[in-house]
Amino acid sequence: MENAPKADQGQELPKITIKRAKNFQATDPPHALSRIKKVIGIVSGKGGVGKSLVTSLLAFYMQAMGHKSGILDADITGPSIPRAFGVSGPPETDGAGMYPVRSRTGIDLMSINFLLPDSTDPVIWRGPVISGAVKQFWTDVIWENEEFLFIDMPPGTGDVALTVFQSIPVNGVIVVTTPQELVGMIVEKAVKMAEKMNIPVLGLVENMSYATCPNCGEKHAIFGESHIDEIAGKYRVKTVCKLPFDPELAALADRGEIEAYDKDSLHALVKMLMFI
Ligand code: ADP
Ligand code: MG
Repeated sequence: MENAPKADQGQELPKITIKRAKNFQATDPPHALSRIKKVIGIVSGKGGVGKSLVTSLLAFYMQAMGHKSGILDADITGPSIPRAFGVSGPPETDGAGMYPVRSRTGIDLMSINFLLPDSTDPVIWRGPVISGAVKQFWTDVIWENEEFLFIDMPPGTGDVALTVFQSIPVNGVIVVTTPQELVGMIVEKAVKMAEKMNIPVLGLVENMSYATCPNCGEKHAIFGESHIDEIAGKYRVKTVCKLPFDPELAALADRGEIEAYDKDSLHALVKMLMFI
């Protein structure tokens, strides 16, 4: 993955055209200079399950395969995205609008954390202010040439998540969970929310699904028994990925070097996203 092929920067992508339910109308058009082909939301029932990490990995894998990617960070619970890529703000602006911050391998990133004077400041804005900022990341940021724009959604199924779904035409969502979540109840809430809003659930990721013993190589279900296949069956979600707990991954994300990760661990999802 280290020598990621360069995405074709000169390639013109068509203007956004997204098939939605007949009565659906995205309230906010993207910036006139934005070219975005596919928008994928990454959601979770609660925080701390690895949603931001999965978002970062998906963008990294896609970009490395030559599919120009960006991340719109709507999860304001921490600076996970800027930190995983080791980048900081402020973003460049000109008369036309604001430009995302580029990662080492060319992933376009936009996060509230780029705009805060001190990235360790907790974001204590109220829901409507957060929703407004996230909407602006869609309307005022110039996403010049994204084949995939991944949205790291706020955890849970609250107001901010709802606003994002109502104002950004999301092609589909990927739900991230861990084996610890109560028999998938929280996951089911996220899946039901997406269904209600007519947004297809493209895949499920069970994060920290197992850990591989460094001595014997055996897989251990250290965070509890897996329920992900049951849930996938119940909601007829075809693509399921089980992401192991990997201390190397955590260390790279901590050091801002996630783009140096050399394991291909979300293969089924990456393959599926090519065909949506
Ligand atoms: P969320 O966005 O759902 O709140 P994060 O992506 O920030 O969660 O992950 C929470 C913490 O757990 C981070 O420190 C992250 O590096 C770590 N983590 C997440 N998934 C894994 C994994 N598969 N292996 C090792 N550490 C992980
Ligand atoms: Mg997060």
